[in-house]
Amino acid sequence: MKYRSTRGGVSGISFTDALLMGLADDGGLLIPDHIPDVSSRLQDWRNLNFVQVAQRLLKLFIDDLEHDDLDALTSEAFSSFDIPEVVAWKQLDQLHVLELFHGPTLAFKDVALQLLGKLFEHVLADRGETLNILGATSGDTGSAAIAGIAGMENIKIFILYPKGRISSLQELQMTTVPDTNVQCISVNGTFDDCQRIMKSIFSDLDFKEAYSLGAINSVNWARVLAQVIYYAYASLQKENTSVDFVVPTGNFGNIFAGFIAKKMGFPVGRLLVATNENDILDRFFKTGEYSLGEVFRTNSPAMDIQVASNFERFLFYYFDEDAERLRGFMEEFARSGKASVVGPLSSDIFLSCSISQPDTEETIAEINSKYDYVIDPHTAVGIRAARSIVTDNPIVCISTAHPAKFPDALGRAIGHRPTHARLSGLSDLQERKQEVSADESEVKKIIQNSSASI
Ligand SMILES: *Cc1c(COP(=O)(O)O)cnc(C)c1O
Repeated sequence: MKYRSTRGGVSGISFTDALLMGLADDGGLLIPDHIPDVSSRLQDWRNLNFVQVAQRLLKLFIDDLEHDDLDALTSEAFSSFDIPEVVAWKQLDQLHVLELFHGPTLAFKDVALQLLGKLFEHVLADRGETLNILGATSGDTGSAAIAGIAGMENIKIFILYPKGRISSLQELQMTTVPDTNVQCISVNGTFDDCQRIMKSIFSDLDFKEAYSLGAINSVNWARVLAQVIYYAYASLQKENTSVDFVVPTGNFGNIFAGFIAKKMGFPVGRLLVATNENDILDRFFKTGEYSLGEVFRTNSPAMDIQVASNFERFLFYYFDEDAERLRGFMEEFARSGKASVVGPLSSDIFLSCSISQPDTEETIAEINSKYDYVIDPHTAVGIRAARSIVTDNPIVCISTAHPAKFPDALGRAIGHRPTHARLSGLSDLQERKQEVSADESEVKKIIQNSSASI
């Protein structure tokens, strides 16, 4: 399997090169040059457990790693989860909730980032190379990325976050990791400052090369691929029917993996994009216009996003794999903050719905009193949105985080703050972080000093 860019300027890239490249060199996103079709082989997949589905699926997209190595890396990656089956189910009348938050940082991002860490480590060791990963986080991504990389010998990870603007729990999940290959950088500024510094450092190509900088954000194809696993797995749990999925959505990374599973021939029906008040995607699916709005801070902060970085991959398929049209659309959007598809959007796959904060908290309270089941605000956005689907298919709601990650919102909704053993001891641990002003050169200095000490 080879990989190419959505913008048409890069092709013939191997999986491992795509893994290390992150964003394509022409500014586009990497995608496989074809999508493997499994539709005639589904009976063989039905009795597999989660890790076995993962092993089979990854081999269809990765042909430049030894299959035995890949199998071993895959089972090792998922052994860090609290339950052997990796994911868990909860039935709420008609709805099937798929809990993806049993990994080390209690958010679905662990599914991809535990695997990515193992892949990076293996590929770098093979090549005799090292990597410095630089990332910026406004919350959950940082801790999941750190948990995927901590303790590895050939990788260092540097995470920028805005001082005082992430929750103290989120900060502790990063700063209490003891491994010295992890550096948490508290920036005196906003999340936008962190992103600006990160982009500016990546665009200094000499620096990027001298310090072998890599990225782990959600544009990395391997993250999408890892997420296809749970759509494939979940869709096979019911015979003779397709399954509809409801997905709390921010960057369109999670739900795009469901789209790939459907394209592969897994029995996926419709995909419901559930957003909070940051509704750029909901507006797009309803009107065909993709236009930038203001970013609101909500009680489901991991979805407080206007520009959805993975949306470009969907548009590429929407435009029948026409890189030229895609490029035109993205350039128009970059220039004017809006772009439209021509004619009505054919929504035979995607549905969309936007949920307000009061409705989100009300849903948390309702589910708690009706089923004695506590959900986090992101999952609540999905469960509320599921009411808008009319379907004969089973509906699977993707649950993206453990409620203990969002104690304030839960306290407001149900009157108590849920806890989890992985979080409750954090405030007793030693913290490690460096504070810098919102200045690129200070961040570069930290990377330079740490490389000097290898
Ligand atoms: C990241 C995140 C999301 C959004 O996922 P996307 O892939 O950006 O759509 C939703 N919920 C939680 C808890 C998250 O951490």
